[in-house]
Amino acid sequence: MTASSAGAAAAMGRPRLQTNPRVDTDRRPRQAEPVIGPAAFNDPRLLAARRAVLSASRVTRAVQADLQTSGVITKDDRSPVTVADYAAQAVVAHVLQQDLGSVRLVGEERADALRLPENSGLLQRTVKQAQRVWPGAEAESLMRAIDVGAAEPDPEGFWTLDPVDGTKGFLRNQHYAVSLAYIEAGVPVLAALACPNFEVDINYALDRPGRGVLCLAARGQGAWQSALHDGAVMHRMPVASRRQDLVRTCESVEAGHSNHDAHAKILRQAGLSASAVRLDSQAKYAVVARDQADVYLRLPSHRGYVEKIWDHAAGELVAQEAGLVVSDFKGRALDYSHGRRLEKNRGIIVAAAHHHSRLIDAIRRLGYS
Ligand code: AMP
Ligand code: MG
Repeated sequence: MTASSAGAAAAMGRPRLQTNPRVDTDRRPRQAEPVIGPAAFNDPRLLAARRAVLSASRVTRAVQADLQTSGVITKDDRSPVTVADYAAQAVVAHVLQQDLGSVRLVGEERADALRLPENSGLLQRTVKQAQRVWPGAEAESLMRAIDVGAAEPDPEGFWTLDPVDGTKGFLRNQHYAVSLAYIEAGVPVLAALACPNFEVDINYALDRPGRGVLCLAARGQGAWQSALHDGAVMHRMPVASRRQDLVRTCESVEAGHSNHDAHAKILRQAGLSASAVRLDSQAKYAVVARDQADVYLRLPSHRGYVEKIWDHAAGELVAQEAGLVVSDFKGRALDYSHGRRLEKNRGIIVAAAHHHSRLIDAIRRLGYS
């Protein structure tokens, strides 16, 4: 790419990353190119996160394409966990360690169940899937990699991972996310969020599986997306001026995860007439960031439920860097400095500032805060 065409690409908001192997095509010079785009793309942590999530998504897509043979077991909290959850966590931990050395990773999964004799078949299938992108993976090294994710949060900084967020959507052959964020002093600062069934084109219907999208964000530097199949071309996410009255909302598919009736009441109270799209996982943050919806509301259906950090960290940063406000139902910032859960927060709102303040007001008047 010449300096002038590079400038043109940057001006169009589509910087190219130099580190993707696909960049080395005949159309491009083989010598090192200047990295175009935010300085964050020079950060080895963001590049490692990107490679980790791209690799893991290749595995999750392959498993979802063949769910019949992959197998599901039920965790203690009765949520389903699949070969994909285990393989993706192992792959992310392995790639982060390869690229960055030792890492502090707070992941959702543990290898304990895979060590049980009755799950040896599941273990074998998990190893086989991980080998798609980690050819040297074996049962022991894979379980060790999964358990790298057993670390505790540290105020100095740590990674948090949901290898398959929205497992229920994944099992319904619908949307899910592979979500990795780096948190410093209780705040997400880097995010790599794959939505493996999205398309970069936001006009592509959400009810049809697409070829996959990777969202990257760095605090203060913007949010970017690329196709999973061509990670070299990055598109800046819109910092949109959203419409004022008719809002498109999104919420969980699972009524057990968030209170659909309360969301409808809040929107009515705020005077916002709304059409809702339901999809699983923190892909909802990306839906708002990509301007496919204006508002994401999440009031847990069960009063005592406390959100997990890995269900929000990457999504929140992507949405904020696309210009949206993210808070809990009292308007407080999400606080990642209290271990593995958002102990100090209840309810989530993602919206442009003018909608956000109306929603907070409506929530207070209805007594949901
Ligand atoms: P979603 O797909 O947006 O409904 O969210 C999926 C996430 O919801 C999972 O990763 C779980 O960690 C989380 N979850 C599980 N049970 C609940 C619950 N009762 N209320 C809210 N979230 C939950
Ligand atoms: Mg999750």
